[in-house]
Amino acid sequence: MSTLEIRDLHVSVETKEGPKPILRGVDLTINSGETHAIMGPNGSGKSTLAYSLAGHPKYEITSGTVTLDGEDVLEMSVDERARAGLFLAMQYPVEVPGVSVSNFLRTAKTAIDGEAPPLRTWVKEMTGAMDKLRMDSTFSERSVNEGFSGGEKKRHEILQMELLKPRFAILDETDSGLDVDALRIVSEGVNRVKESTEVGVLLITHYTRILRYIKPDFVHVFVDGRVAEEGGPELAERLENEGYDRFLSTAPSA
Ligand code: ADP
Ligand code: MG
Ligand code: MG
Repeated sequence: MSTLEIRDLHVSVETKEGPKPILRGVDLTINSGETHAIMGPNGSGKSTLAYSLAGHPKYEITSGTVTLDGEDVLEMSVDERARAGLFLAMQYPVEVPGVSVSNFLRTAKTAIDGEAPPLRTWVKEMTGAMDKLRMDSTFSERSVNEGFSGGEKKRHEILQMELLKPRFAILDETDSGLDVDALRIVSEGVNRVKESTEVGVLLITHYTRILRYIKPDFVHVFVDGRVAEEGGPELAERLENEGYDRFLSTAPSA
């Protein structure tokens, strides 16, 4: 079993006016096989947490620790984090013009495994995963995210997750902008990975509807750069009924 442990994490983002503190002491522990939902209002710092875990250079860790089975994640490069089994599905996936989906995925798989996957089984695995995500076969020859619709970008993120089989997957608003059918297809993809591996999932979302498809073991309410309340799945239902107002009014101010 693996454990991803975040302790008292404080993070500032670089802005033109200088560093701006966003995360104010995040505590979170995720074990293999667990699904944790992070729910919070816009601007509460959810994506900042995701990027900080992935090692985005724009985010400065001012204090706190992140460890994976005791190893210091914050000391690792972005590549080392990926090789250690950390995976981020971005809220706004970036375009990589001139690099096809198929090349991108094979390069990522090779980098993470330390050796290229055998071509024949790899192509079969990739097309199989694309089929299940209802992605057209021509998709693999398109440039990564270039001209992709919102739904195609999200499917491509989950395709990566299915093929790379991370130890911990951070899914940042993978549900945003998806219609009901796409939401179900994408959720089924995540659930397939959950069933076939011991992946720990950090599911960042603004809405409860994805939690009907991907069942969380724990729910964390994220407000003003920290976890304001934690509970089981019933907490998501309360948020659905009551919204975030209760947490906003009681959240400590900066
Ligand atoms: P969430 O994902 O919960 O909506 P974010 O992590 O995207 O929140 O943003 C948290 C806060 O950090 C917001 O107030 C946002 O405006 C601010 N922020 C994030 N990135 C930048 C940036 N590059 N420059 C200035 N402010 C930023
Ligand atoms: Mg947001
Ligand atoms: Mg966000």
